[in-house]
Amino acid sequence: MQTRVAQALGEIDQASGSLIAPIHVSTTYLRDADNQYRSGRIYSRADNPSYLPAERVIASLENAIDAKLFASGNAAATTVFQALKPGDRMLAPKVMYWALRNWLKTFGADMGLQVRWVDMDDLAQVRSALAEAPTRLVWIETPGNPLWTVTDIAKVSDLAHQHGALVAVDSTVATPVLSRPLELGADIVMHSATKYLNGHSDVIAGALASRENSEFWQRIVRLRAQSGNVLGPFEASQLLRGMRTLVLRVKQSCEAAQWIAEQLEQLPSVAAVLYPGLPSFAGHEIAKQQMQGGFGGMLSVRISAGEAAAIGTAARTQIWKRATSLGGVESLIEHRASIEGEGTPVPADLLRLSVGIEDPQELFEDLRQAIEAASA
Ligand SMILES: *Cc1c(COP(=O)(O)O)cnc(C)c1O
Repeated sequence: MQTRVAQALGEIDQASGSLIAPIHVSTTYLRDADNQYRSGRIYSRADNPSYLPAERVIASLENAIDAKLFASGNAAATTVFQALKPGDRMLAPKVMYWALRNWLKTFGADMGLQVRWVDMDDLAQVRSALAEAPTRLVWIETPGNPLWTVTDIAKVSDLAHQHGALVAVDSTVATPVLSRPLELGADIVMHSATKYLNGHSDVIAGALASRENSEFWQRIVRLRAQSGNVLGPFEASQLLRGMRTLVLRVKQSCEAAQWIAEQLEQLPSVAAVLYPGLPSFAGHEIAKQQMQGGFGGMLSVRISAGEAAAIGTAARTQIWKRATSLGGVESLIEHRASIEGEGTPVPADLLRLSVGIEDPQELFEDLRQAIEAASA
């Protein structure tokens, strides 16, 4: 994988011999004299050759038959939801990326989607929710934002398929370096490519990849073309550049996150550390099975002295930047509860940490002094 992604599959542009894929800015394509479009391309809303190298890399990383880029992670995810039909029932996890949960609760409800919210890490609950009524889709996010709840992709996919439901996995946090949901039985995998895939906090992008060329996948592809949720050619090129270092960045973030999580657990001012790589974490055993080479760069920490001390900690860090988002080369710290507002499952004393690729020792020291000063 490291070789494939570093070389962006080693593709050489046939027309110019360039090692780096060209950016095609044209919105339209020449029609043949007899009115055909033998190039297969008519208009850039549906097709632009600039998308293809990044899509091929993502398909290769996920072991998918096809991948498509979208204007954002949310554009990718909501295209899956919109490919459902009014009245369709889906299962979604209670702990998930909040902007998508909000979409399902508002626009999803308006379009007639029946969303059954479950604890996706509780297989008995998933089984009984599937038995209640016919279900079209099971949406998984693992590790799930921002408690990092781990869902057993293979077991939930198996249960869903027994009930005729499709399975889609938001794998933004795991990245294809650590988990490949399609190999575990899922039908569709989704990424906010804004995060680890691009990795430099300078592109908003999303991706979907599919295990099969199913009717549902074809519907998603048509929906993208017709709704225009496409990425710009410049962003596609930036994303491809970012992805070349994906494996190195993820390895470094995982190693640092694991070490920082272990150090944080020792601090008396810390009530809990949520990280799939800690043996004390509820989902650790399943994470060990479905995440290879590390447990991701995301963790959360609960501050013993409560909400004010948590907010005070974020106010006192120098290296960790107070900002939302995740998966970039620079480390970020965020008080989630005050962003998510009412109905959030996030405790008020929790800080979400996105571990970048800076010096791990400096990252920990910065955090330790901030936690201790804010808790004094
Ligand atoms: C950021 C994120 C999204 C949304 O992606 P955008 O690119 O911001 O639209 C979805 N799921 C997860 C887990 C994310 O972190």
